[in-house]
Amino acid sequence: MPTCKKCQEAFFVSQEEQAFLGKIAFTFGATVIHPPEPVYCPTCRMLLRTCNRNERFFYKNASKKSGKELISLYAKEPPWGVPFAIYEQKEWESDAFDPLEYGRDFDFSRPFFDQFSELLKTVPRMALCTIGNENCTYTTGTGYCRNCYLINSSEYCEDCYYGKLLQSSKDCVDCSYTYNSELCYECFSIHKCYHCTALLFSQNCQDCLYSSNLNACKHCSLCTNLHQKEYYFLNEPLEKMEYEKKIAEFWGSAQKMREMREKLMSLREQQPQRYANIVNSQHCTGDFIENSKNCLDCYDVNESEDCRYVQVGVQVKDNFDCSNMYIKPELCYETLGTIEVFNTAYSIFIFHSQNLLYCDYCYHSSDCFGCSGLTRKKYCIFNKQYTKGEYEELVPKIIEHMQKTGEWGLFFPPRYAPFAYNESLASEYVPLSKDEVLQRGFLWRDRKDEIPNVEKVIPGKRLPDRIANVPDDVLNWAIECEETGRPFQIIKPELRFYRSQNLPLPRLHPDVRYDRRLALRNPRTLYARTCAKCEKEIQTAFSPGRSETIYCEECYLKEVY
Ligand SMILES: [Zn+2]
Ligand SMILES: [Zn+2]
Repeated sequence: MPTCKKCQEAFFVSQEEQAFLGKIAFTFGATVIHPPEPVYCPTCRMLLRTCNRNERFFYKNASKKSGKELISLYAKEPPWGVPFAIYEQKEWESDAFDPLEYGRDFDFSRPFFDQFSELLKTVPRMALCTIGNENCTYTTGTGYCRNCYLINSSEYCEDCYYGKLLQSSKDCVDCSYTYNSELCYECFSIHKCYHCTALLFSQNCQDCLYSSNLNACKHCSLCTNLHQKEYYFLNEPLEKMEYEKKIAEFWGSAQKMREMREKLMSLREQQPQRYANIVNSQHCTGDFIENSKNCLDCYDVNESEDCRYVQVGVQVKDNFDCSNMYIKPELCYETLGTIEVFNTAYSIFIFHSQNLLYCDYCYHSSDCFGCSGLTRKKYCIFNKQYTKGEYEELVPKIIEHMQKTGEWGLFFPPRYAPFAYNESLASEYVPLSKDEVLQRGFLWRDRKDEIPNVEKVIPGKRLPDRIANVPDDVLNWAIECEETGRPFQIIKPELRFYRSQNLPLPRLHPDVRYDRRLALRNPRTLYARTCAKCEKEIQTAFSPGRSETIYCEECYLKEVY
């Protein structure tokens, strides 16, 4: 077994992985080159990719072209050196922007990554990563959304605030992993739900509160593992009037709703847990997999096949070691953030392209090496145009050079990442301390909150218990988070949502709420365990030391239905 050159843990390279590395191939005339076997373990590979994705942290910056102020994922003055050149989306997409102006020769006396990072710092990048939005300035990784605020990785949403992975949802606040849902608050991992609060891991529910693992239920509160039930409280049926009386006892009071949440968390601990969320799939391991086959060690994957080590994939085929892959990417390796890409490796944010190696932000391009910001280009190296013959001669020579420098087959080194580890997706997957981050060679940013320009700052615990006693003036205040002391503000449409739903104001900073939801999921690591009931062997993301009772799929379903 090889030892990871980053964390020193032993890892294995499976036969499927070796076969895959033989299948993905880059052809340069008579020369065919395959990616080599990895030298880092799957977790380190995942972190090296995802440290290049910032989903949540925004900075005031200015367009390099017009000087106009804008909101960007990239800091104006990053603590680690030269900032990126930022363009507004329409400036970047305009014909006036020619990425080949930044082209340069490859220097065989220097390492590849040093030269590539210099190129990246000069080619302008889009301030945010969005498409087709309306009034969604503080969002990224979003498409076709309206009036949303601080959401990411979301499409077709309207009036949603503070969340991750919302799809086709409306009026959802503080929700993550929420699909086709409406009027929901503080929910996590729900599908087709309406008017629910603090509902977790559930589908097709309406008016359910502080509950988990419900299917097709209505008016259930403090319930777990129920199917097609109506008016249940603590998993027991109640008369409608009785039920409504119970709800009225806590609804709208910040203190009582907090106690409800605590009760839900302890209920969840007592209930048997499903070993993994894998639905309608064959020969898959990981978590949150649907309608897929032969996907191993995969997370958040739908309609996919023959993959390993993929995190977030839709209609993915033959992908190994990839993250955030959408719409039929095929034969991709060590790549982050794609739409419709074929035969591509060691690349970041590639759309509708093929046969790319070591590229960044390229659209509708093919057969390019070490390029950034290209659209509709072919046979380019370091943003310089070559003929087919020149390209096929030069790329194998650069790869040979990279083999000598020990760079060939490695993903971009984290010291050249555009983001600090603690503002990237990597820290969501594996939170690390500042010392650990620096020790592993990633970047770190000490974050300081801007003091908001407000009339007054009020500690969270001094807020009125009920929204009715909160004046509209609150929009001019900052609230001090009860847990972290960090100041945060309420935005106008958010206040309107709380009032219309008779919900108390939040006492915790949006980042704390966001992280608290994410903590409801298991980390992306698998362990071999046995089912607590039938002792069948299972692969689960519940680590062996955890207190919950873990059942295999069959035993879990028998328990619930
Ligand atoms: Zn490692
Ligand atoms: Zn079992």
